[in-house]
Amino acid sequence: MKQYQKEINKRRTFGIISHPDAGKTTLTEKLLLFGGAIQEAGAVKSNKIKKGATSDFMEIERQRGISVATSVLAFEYRDIKINILDTPGHKDFAEDTFRTLTAVDSVIVVIDVAKGVEEQTEKLVEVCRMRNIPMIVFINKLDREGKDAFELLDEIEQKLNLTVTPLSFPIGMGYDFKGIYNIWEKNVNLFTGDPRKDIEETVEISDLNSEELDDLIGEKAADTLREELELAQGVYPEFDREAYLEGRLQPVFFGSALNNFGVRELLDCFISIAPPPRPKESDTRVVKPDEKEFTGFVFKIHANMDPKHRDRLAFIKIVSGKFERNKNYLHVRNNKNMKFSSPNAFFAEKKEVVDVSYPGDIVGLHDTGNFKIGDTLTEGENLMYKGIPSFSPEHFRYINNADPMKSKQLEKGVDQLMDEGVAQLFVLELNGRKIIGTVGALQFEVIQYRLEHEYGAKCTYENLNVHKATWVEPEDPKSEEFQDFKRVKAKFLAKDKSGQLVFLADSQFSLQMTQQKYPSIKFHFTSEF
Ligand code: GDP
Repeated sequence: MKQYQKEINKRRTFGIISHPDAGKTTLTEKLLLFGGAIQEAGAVKSNKIKKGATSDFMEIERQRGISVATSVLAFEYRDIKINILDTPGHKDFAEDTFRTLTAVDSVIVVIDVAKGVEEQTEKLVEVCRMRNIPMIVFINKLDREGKDAFELLDEIEQKLNLTVTPLSFPIGMGYDFKGIYNIWEKNVNLFTGDPRKDIEETVEISDLNSEELDDLIGEKAADTLREELELAQGVYPEFDREAYLEGRLQPVFFGSALNNFGVRELLDCFISIAPPPRPKESDTRVVKPDEKEFTGFVFKIHANMDPKHRDRLAFIKIVSGKFERNKNYLHVRNNKNMKFSSPNAFFAEKKEVVDVSYPGDIVGLHDTGNFKIGDTLTEGENLMYKGIPSFSPEHFRYINNADPMKSKQLEKGVDQLMDEGVAQLFVLELNGRKIIGTVGALQFEVIQYRLEHEYGAKCTYENLNVHKATWVEPEDPKSEEFQDFKRVKAKFLAKDKSGQLVFLADSQFSLQMTQQKYPSIKFHFTSEF
């Protein structure tokens, strides 16, 4: 096999998604420990927004600092190069997570055994399901009292609309937690509750009916396990890798991240079943990772935290070919050639300049304002990657300039923050007033704070009654109906940053009425259709 093909095959790029507190940070940390990428627990900082002592936007600044370090955590395990992409769990940052999910080839979903399926899990899994992203479920905190395994599997199937098959099964739970039976490897892993232990003692059990099992976990627990496994076998489909890769079947593991229990099993299974970099659809064709010519796209932009260095880091997922330092690439949207003298690759806790990167890898490019989220880089081919839509925001406010001497700075700041994907800007057709739309209310504070501290500009907000922004697509832009719509709704029409027409409905009712009145016009809730 050619070296290049080998490099592609050994890469696994994935994200861990969960509702806050389910154990994503803890699990990430244990995975890094297995990879030898960090030496001790506590090295990975949580990207969570903590409520409490500091004000929310200060907390966000703190979190932003952390999220540079945790954007991509890469390590090698058993000759596989693993890239974990960080996904914020806080709902106000859900859009960041959605965008990151366009750059992963698979995901691990973490669920708390006591809380079961929670709100953020539902939303994020839905996005993965719609894109057929392969998912493995990890049920965490088995050292605590929680829901019954079958009940949980049921809940996952129903609430998340998945088809599950357990690849491990808990023996007891909470106080009585004895360990797990690994269906995938056919062995029993006994729980000692010692988190320092990083190599677990496992006992091969080739025959479940053997007395060895009774000796290990006691007769009663052994009988229960036999019954439960039989039941599970009857109820759940057998694991099928094709089905998993196509997003039709989701294997489930049980364990306790905090106790480093069941994590190695998860990781071993993950590297053997999870997909290497997958092909990606562009506006002209599907691009395969093993194609010779480089292509990639920007899924995240991170502004420098240091006010003296105004540059930003654009995160590129490499889809095909090799990305090389100092080589000329085409920035497709700007139709401009660019080369990069110090592309960064990411490791567990540090970044380094790299000469060559391969499909599946993420490189960080220093950017002075050329990139925005969704941009494509190629070796010359005129194609653009799809799939990073903007979603209709939830909150809307007018933004006003509070310092007339600084209007240039304000404009530049707003422009760049929008490129970063912090929020969306809409400009009213009628009078050119600017409206900021965000997913969470926190973002308004962030924008105000960052405009002042990074761009020296001041802004104020003014409330505005908008229920939803919808992207407008007329069947025929010249039709009488569309002209009438534009006339009647002139007050509610705006352009987004890329010049697309947007209808700002002031209530659910008025949106419905408008849809009914203009049946030939489509109203989309995302910018990509
Ligand atoms: P995240 O918000 O999903 O990143 O969750 P964290 O990894 O920060 O974990 C949230 C809390 O749950 C922390 O206090 C962890 O110590 C705790 N936790 C994580 N895994 C386990 C586990 O397996 N058992 C128990 N009892 N607690 C856990």
